[in-house]
Amino acid sequence: MPYTEVNPYNGKTIREFPNTTNSQLNEFLNQATIFYQKAQVQPVKEREILLERLADEFENHMEKYAQILTVNMGKLIGEARSEVKKNITFAHYYAENGSQLLKPQSSEILPNGNAQIEFSGTGIVLAIEPWNFPYTQVMRVFAPNFILGNPVVLKHASIVPGAAQAFQNACDNAGLPKGAFSNVFINYDQVNSIIADSRVQGIALTGSENAGKRIAATAGSYLKKTTLELGGTDIFAVLDDADIDRAATDAATARLSNAGQVCTSAKRYLVSDDIYDQFLLALKKKFSTYQVGDPLDEKTTLAPLSSKKAKVSLLEQVRMAISGGASLLYGDLESNETQGNEFSPLILTGMTPNNPMYDEELFGPVAQIYRVKSDNEIVTKANRSRHGLGGAIYTSDIERGKRLASRIATGQVAINHILSSQAGVPFGGIKDSGYGRELGHWGIYEFANIKAIIY
Ligand code: NAP
Repeated sequence: MPYTEVNPYNGKTIREFPNTTNSQLNEFLNQATIFYQKAQVQPVKEREILLERLADEFENHMEKYAQILTVNMGKLIGEARSEVKKNITFAHYYAENGSQLLKPQSSEILPNGNAQIEFSGTGIVLAIEPWNFPYTQVMRVFAPNFILGNPVVLKHASIVPGAAQAFQNACDNAGLPKGAFSNVFINYDQVNSIIADSRVQGIALTGSENAGKRIAATAGSYLKKTTLELGGTDIFAVLDDADIDRAATDAATARLSNAGQVCTSAKRYLVSDDIYDQFLLALKKKFSTYQVGDPLDEKTTLAPLSSKKAKVSLLEQVRMAISGGASLLYGDLESNETQGNEFSPLILTGMTPNNPMYDEELFGPVAQIYRVKSDNEIVTKANRSRHGLGGAIYTSDIERGKRLASRIATGQVAINHILSSQAGVPFGGIKDSGYGRELGHWGIYEFANIKAIIY
């Protein structure tokens, strides 16, 4: 099957991209290996300059790259511009900090000697990426590995070939050396053959739990290291002392931006009993201001879902939640049963642990709300999940928020902010949300050889 670019807003096919053949794939791996060998003896500074050029390419053609995102996966044009900007930030971070992060470190642990710790590349990294942030997910893996001298081969989600090709074009336009980045249009068997290839030393996957289990199992059988950035059922806790209006505004944004298709979207609102009614009223008001429509139209505030498949699956999940005992507190399920991929916001209540959807990730504009009586109950509810990705807490008492955040079993928690990735801050999950960290210095060490020279 060729990779097909379809506009999720109007269902029109834009382009088809032919599959990469096995011999082309082998040639890509050869070129990547040549890049790897050269990079191991090249000063890091030279790659920093090239990475800055890639950031400039996105900066100088912001609108073009943003439009590709909107047309290919449906995000609002404003959200697409923000993604291009964040992409630039990630490239700048590693371009500015690369040499420093890879500088050898000395250690004084030995009584009669020293140890020097060096950082170098290990080989080709296969990046398997999802469609929801088609540029930044790639840059999170590419930028640190490029600085390290590890070539990256990209297998992007099959619904975003336009964005995948655009990233390749950006690298080519910026003058990056051949083999540093190779986008390939391949099937799952070819993915497995790359994992098995001895030139490949790491696999970075962002996607669903299912994909994580399969890729990690295959990689394990070849002793290849993986990082897994998987899904979540993040909480958004509103404490009794929170600024209700601010919390409601952010709660709506945190659930509805990117049409709710964010791994760290606020999926479960846990709201203090004392302010529950006020918060819910404010939240419904905010939700009612969101309007579905053409994502290229600046006035549209809620993007369509990324594909027909995504819409069918979300509708099915909501139906199962309702038949499992939940009820709709806001929105109308039937009005969402339309031809297009638009999906108006819903709020579910009455979700109990025996509901089949209780611990499932609902990847779209569907929120769940719970009444809570204490901070302890927030911790219990937050941690009664097989996921452990993120979360947010709204309170006027930062110290209380920090104490609570420390007790929540996830990789990151934001206080009085919408959780989002930041260039210098580690990003990743625990439990079924995966393992490993991207961004910051943590991201550059995942596929590095951290070598100790003891003398
Ligand atoms: P997905 O279906 O798992 O796909 C992710 C990528 O894996 C795609 O490139 C897909 O290719 C590939 N893939 C899936 N199964 C595979 C297999 N057996 N062998 C080889 N490749 C395989 O996930 P998605 O629907 O694109 O993305 C949404 C999920 O990603 C959500 O769960 C979301 O929470 C998670 N996510 C996590 C983070 C994070 O940082 N933690 C960030 C963003 C998204 P095809 O498209 O060809 O199937």
